Amino acid sequence: MSRPVSFQHLAPEYVQRFEAYVPSKPDDELKKLFGCSHLFRLNNNENPLGPCPSAVQVIRDFVPSQASVYPSGDCWHLRQKLAEQHGMEPDQFLFGNGANEVIAFVIKAFCQKGDNIITADKTFAVYEWVAEFSGIEARRVPLKDYGFDDDEMIRSINDRTKILFVCNPNNPTGTYWDAGTLRGFLNRVNGRQIVVVDEAYCEYVENPDFPDSMAMIAEYPNLVVFRTFSKMHALAGLRIGYLAGSREAVDIIRRTCVVYSVNTLAQAAAFAVLNDNGEHVQHTRNLVRRQKQVLTEYLAGQGLPFLSGEGNFVMIRLPMSDSLAYRRLMMQGVMIRTMTGFRFPNWIRVTMALSDAMDAFMTGLESILT
Ligand SMILES: *Cc1c(COP(=O)(O)O)cnc(C)c1O
Repeated sequence: MSRPVSFQHLAPEYVQRFEAYVPSKPDDELKKLFGCSHLFRLNNNENPLGPCPSAVQVIRDFVPSQASVYPSGDCWHLRQKLAEQHGMEPDQFLFGNGANEVIAFVIKAFCQKGDNIITADKTFAVYEWVAEFSGIEARRVPLKDYGFDDDEMIRSINDRTKILFVCNPNNPTGTYWDAGTLRGFLNRVNGRQIVVVDEAYCEYVENPDFPDSMAMIAEYPNLVVFRTFSKMHALAGLRIGYLAGSREAVDIIRRTCVVYSVNTLAQAAAFAVLNDNGEHVQHTRNLVRRQKQVLTEYLAGQGLPFLSGEGNFVMIRLPMSDSLAYRRLMMQGVMIRTMTGFRFPNWIRVTMALSDAMDAFMTGLESILT
């Protein structure tokens, strides 16, 4: 017989209250569950073209004996390369097991009991989740016209606010702050808080008014920029992302980071991406632009409201529950993201993919709406 353990006593109240995120099951399980022979995953904003050819080659050439050796603990070569590319210092970059992990580094570095972070109510939820399961208050400012509300975020600051998280462009609405808006925001924050700009989708933005946030770090030492290799660069399965900031900010954040959390293969593939000629990025942008156009024309024809901004995804409002739509699309082998969890009930988010997947989605949508 097992001995009784008082988990209530052991776990902090904010951990007990927190509801764990449930990831989707693997494809083979889902196919059995929904009785479909094929599955198009349009739920995670992955790049259907896969990594650039040079990264593919690096992955193919991986020497198995390397698996037994620890990776570079601080992604040495990647940081050298980024420093060279951006005219910064290697110590201004910090890598993690996906951008998801660096979110936790920053919150751990700056927040203690009684502090708060500020973000939007309808954005990437990991900022508020990490805050909440760490016992830190997450203040959620409602979106304005589907975008981050700079004025209201400034008004929500109090003397315990440590970090402001801005998702730029925003997942899931596709809106973004231009350079002037970000600069105005940083001027008003005036160094009193850390401002995190999460640029997970920046490689999809082609408009020149998008901020050059890396260059702004020299002027704003409280600015921290997140980037990932998961979305445009198609290395989601290898888990690698990073943050950039002033030397002073990164010196603090580095104390809370997990060493060796980025594996050897991820580092090698990301290094190939940094040295790539950019052709693959252009191909991906072209694909996404084309598929958005096809899809949004279709949606307009169907009279369905949608949001199509920056990034490789489109949001659609359905005249039915998003979870019902999810189940019925799954039966046809199409997986989308339900948006109730993002506080957009009856909305879904769809990743732009190859034509077979997009056709399957549109056919599926038509069948569940009629
Ligand atoms: C996907 C995503 C991330 C996290 O990416 P990782 O795979 O953890 O690098 C971070 N922020 C936003 C807005 C995202 O959509």
